[in-house]
Amino acid sequence: SMAEKHFKYIALGGGVSGGYAAREFAKQGVQPGELAIISKEAVAPYERPALSKAYLFPEGTARLPGFHVCVGSGGERLVPDWYKEKGIELILSTEIVKADLSSKSLTSASGEIFKYDNLVIATGSTVIKLSDFGVQGADAKNIFYLREIDDADKLVEAIKTKKNGKVVLVGGGYIGLELSAAMRVNDLDVTMVYPEPWCMPRLFTADIAKFYEGYYTNKGVKIIKGTVAAGFSSHDNGEVKEVQLKDGRVLAADIVVVGVGGRPLTALFKGQVAEEKGGIKTDGFFKTSVPDVYAVGDVATFPLKLYGELRRVEHVDHARKSAEQAVKAIKASEEGKAVEEYDYLPYFYSRAFDLSWQFYGDNVGDAVLFGDNDPASSPHKFGSYWIKDGKVVGAFLESGTPEENKAIAKVARVQPPADSLEQLSKEGLTFASKI
Ligand code: FAD
Repeated sequence: SMAEKHFKYIALGGGVSGGYAAREFAKQGVQPGELAIISKEAVAPYERPALSKAYLFPEGTARLPGFHVCVGSGGERLVPDWYKEKGIELILSTEIVKADLSSKSLTSASGEIFKYDNLVIATGSTVIKLSDFGVQGADAKNIFYLREIDDADKLVEAIKTKKNGKVVLVGGGYIGLELSAAMRVNDLDVTMVYPEPWCMPRLFTADIAKFYEGYYTNKGVKIIKGTVAAGFSSHDNGEVKEVQLKDGRVLAADIVVVGVGGRPLTALFKGQVAEEKGGIKTDGFFKTSVPDVYAVGDVATFPLKLYGELRRVEHVDHARKSAEQAVKAIKASEEGKAVEEYDYLPYFYSRAFDLSWQFYGDNVGDAVLFGDNDPASSPHKFGSYWIKDGKVVGAFLESGTPEENKAIAKVARVQPPADSLEQLSKEGLTFASKI
């Protein structure tokens, strides 16, 4: 039988939170041989958001080692040698297929066994596939999803071989918006398809979406709303040929990219740990219901103190911060100390074409628009506030300066009262700058 390996700490998952956990462990003085990062991917932890942005650009292309963590937050770049120097074992191309939390052991696809004293679950999410819903022909070649670097490499290859070809983007969320922009920048013919009345409906109001839809249309992206991809036909060589829409229309396609959402990777732990809202339930230190087991990043359902509610957040900023919080809590508890409870202000962002937006807080209650959301005018500076129970609880801003983004973040944190929505709309960023 194969030898067992034992570590004081194992981070399962070498994505964003796995990488930021490694850096925090090093900061806290982990000893050589104590920590292992186990990852299914073949590369050291990197800033995943790059995959839908500069990784796909024809110019100014991002490639590893350029975007290993922690460059995305202005930190040092952890290349594979960094892990070696710190005595952190980076166990790559290794998928864990079985986790037994009671015996504190993980088993890989090739039968290796890893034992731990403390486990940090950092498995992230996987994409939802059209074949999960039985969409006909969804397994044709050149239908892509994007989660890991291998997926991005396949997409890059397809962009090269299908020059000037037709791309259909299925989904109007983050992936749909960032990928359709990246595909246009590569001179491909792009059509987006989504069922909702406007793009990114989970965050955008109709007024916000109007800007982006107009801007994308001006860039040559065709947008088809109110219907879904119901099936695909393929050529004799197995490559996708057409997308059949539910409303009866048929779109020719050389490449299809599907971005219809993700699902947290918790299956390994089913029945072994408390779950909530689709994720692994934690406290404000990312401790799960099982002693010595922590969960961070996309998989964690944690108390969002600001809103007095358990939430799961699938964004990179939280992946970074939750990992740091968990490691600080682990190290503090070893010394009989405590750290402060996680007090997170939700922060999401996206970039596409020459646009860049940031959002802070909660998008609940009434929304008001400020600034000029006409896609034809320049600069593209506009935003939105969300007001609930007379307080401003969320703020969105397109093309903000660093100072302006800081100001809207402060608004979302402080939650200042707002008497009149009209006044707020008129004041716009001036309101934020006074907080
Ligand atoms: P991940 O970073 O996904 O890491 C999980 C790791 O665990 C992966 O390496 C995976 O292979 C590994 N793993 C999983 N299961 C196993 C197993 N059984 N055995 C071994 N290894 C395993 N957020 C933003 O806020 N802004 C953005 O602009 C943005 N852009 C994005 C673009 C793309 C293309 C994607 C996919 C996501 C984007 N996100 C963005 C979301 C953000 O990247 C995630 O929220 C973040 O990566 C979550 O970190 P994580 O560590 O929880 O998971």
